[in-house]
Amino acid sequence: MSLLVINARLITVPAGIDDPGYIERGYMLVQDGRIAAIGAGDPDPGVTADEILDVDGKFVAPGFVSSHSHLFTSGSRGLGVDQTLYGWCTSMFSVLDNASPDQIYWATLHGSLDFLANGVTTAYNFTDPLLPWEPMVEGKRADGGGILRDHAWHTWAPTTRSSPGSRPRSTTCSRWIPTSRSARRSWGRCSGRPGPTPPRSRSPSWTASASPTRRTSSRRTRRPASNGRLASGIAHVPEMLEQGMKVGMGLDDQACTDVADPWQNMRMGMFMQRARTHDPLSMMPERVLRLHTLGGAEIMGVDDRVGSLEVGKFADFVVVDPRKPDVGPLWNPVRSYVLACGLRNLTQVYVGGKLVNENGLSTNPLAEEASRVLHEELPALAEEFGVIL
Ligand SMILES: [Zn+2]
Repeated sequence: MSLLVINARLITVPAGIDDPGYIERGYMLVQDGRIAAIGAGDPDPGVTADEILDVDGKFVAPGFVSSHSHLFTSGSRGLGVDQTLYGWCTSMFSVLDNASPDQIYWATLHGSLDFLANGVTTAYNFTDPLLPWEPMVEGKRADGGGILRDHAWHTWAPTTRSSPGSRPRSTTCSRWIPTSRSARRSWGRCSGRPGPTPPRSRSPSWTASASPTRRTSSRRTRRPASNGRLASGIAHVPEMLEQGMKVGMGLDDQACTDVADPWQNMRMGMFMQRARTHDPLSMMPERVLRLHTLGGAEIMGVDDRVGSLEVGKFADFVVVDPRKPDVGPLWNPVRSYVLACGLRNLTQVYVGGKLVNENGLSTNPLAEEASRVLHEELPALAEEFGVIL
C-alpha cells in the first residue's frame, strides 16, 4: 500500500536542529505505513503510488504527541470545576470507580478516538492505579502500600486481540506507549483497530511550579491546559530547556482539559510563559510546536519512529486547511499554523499512512458503540450508585 501526498505546505520538524523544516510546496511518499520520500516540489516523474492525495496547499504536519494522557477519562468532562487536583480527582472518579472493565475499555476507546479526531497520533497513556492520595501528595513512594484495582482493568494481554471472538479489555487507536520498563520495547501501534493496553502504571509526580533542576537527564511533560484548569501552577519550561532538560507536551486527562485540543494546549503553553516572564521570546511558536511533536516523542524514547516527518518514520500526519475557515495571508506559515489554525481547520488525520479521521468523523467501526456506552451506561452507573456530581 502506498500513498503520495502532493502540493503540501510541509512542516517536517526535523530532528537535530531548531528549524521547523517548512517547505512551501512539497510532496511525501508513504510506503507500507512509513515515509519513503519527502521533499520540495514534485516527486520524480517515475514515482507512482496506489493513491494520490492532492492537498492543494493545505498544511501537512506531524501528528501531535501527548506524552502524558489518561484516555479512560474521556466520559468524565466538566466535573469538579471548583476543585484543584485531588478534589477534582474525587469528583471525576466518583463514576468511574464503579465501572466494569468493559466500560473502562469503551471509555478508553472513546478517548483514543477523540485524540485521533484532534490530530493526536501518539499518546503515553496512564491507566487508573487507584493509589491512595497521601503518598502522591507528599511525594512519597507508594510501593507496597497502594491499593490497586483488580488486574483485569489493566491487563497487558496481547493474546486477546488474536483470539477469535474475543474482545480486548482495553484499547486505543493512538499509538500506545506501554509504561512498564519490560513492555516499553513492545509499544503497540494500530491505525483504527483495537490494540493491547499497557499494564498499570504510577503517574510520575512532579510539581507544576517546581524550579528547574540541574539534572539535565531529567525529562518532563508539561500540560498547560490541565495545569491551568486545575490551578496547579506554571512549569518553568524555558528555564528547564535552557538547562538542557528534555520537555514534551501532554493533554493529560480529557476530564481536565475538557477539549483535547493540541492547538489550544500549545497556545496556552506559550501564553502562560509569556505572561509569567513578561518576555515574548520565552516561548515562540516554533518551539512549542516542536515540544508537542518531536519533543514528546523524545522524552518517551520513540523519536526514531514518530514525532516528525522524516524518511523511515511512520506516516502519522495531519492535514490542515488555512482557508477553511480562512486565516488570511500566511506571512509566516509556521507561526500561522500554531497561532491562527486549530481544530476548525483540521480536515484529515493519518496514522501509518491510513486515514483515521476526516472532518471530525472517525473511520473506526466501533466509534458509534463507544459513544453509546458512554452516553447510556455512565449515567446509569451514576444513578445506580447514587453518585452526586
Ligand atoms: Zn495526569
